[in-house]
Amino acid sequence: MGNQSDVAVCSSLSCQKPGKHHCSGCRTAAYCSPTCQKSHWKVHKKTCAGAKKYNCFIIRATPIDPTKENPTDADYIEPFPLDSYGNWGAEMDELKKKRQWGGVLEPGKLYSHRPVNRWHYHAYQQYEKTDPPINPVASRCYRREINGDVAVVRSSQSITKLVAPVRPTSGRELP
Ligand SMILES: [Zn+2]
Ligand SMILES: [Zn+2]
Repeated sequence: MGNQSDVAVCSSLSCQKPGKHHCSGCRTAAYCSPTCQKSHWKVHKKTCAGAKKYNCFIIRATPIDPTKENPTDADYIEPFPLDSYGNWGAEMDELKKKRQWGGVLEPGKLYSHRPVNRWHYHAYQQYEKTDPPINPVASRCYRREINGDVAVVRSSQSITKLVAPVRPTSGRELP
């Protein structure tokens, strides 16, 4: 059985309480409470391995492989990790540059389906003077017509699902 001595201190900098709940994104950061986790997220999201790996997806207007017959939703989803994740202005610059977007629109927040259902996302839409093709997956998500590629940038984890009680032995996983 574990006890308090093999539990790390809360990852929130100003807090000395035992960190009993691991961040589900990286399993290394640990917090005493959802409150500490929430307040630390602005800092932690820049280094959280889970957040980095899955910080951005593109919902493409066209399938990744255009020759594939009967593409599924997954064929339209492209992982697109942003180097500048955590800094909104830089994220937008990086998106525009790497995707060659003329401009960015914000169609609204999205809550993703599995396997990344613990997070919600801010969605950004390619803006062009000429209409790009209809985006079938994004249009279904929004229940209205969305044109062009949509980038979804991870915003935060839902706290209720995020805080998983740590197993008695898992204190050893901590750095
Ligand atoms: Zn704390
Ligand atoms: Zn984390």
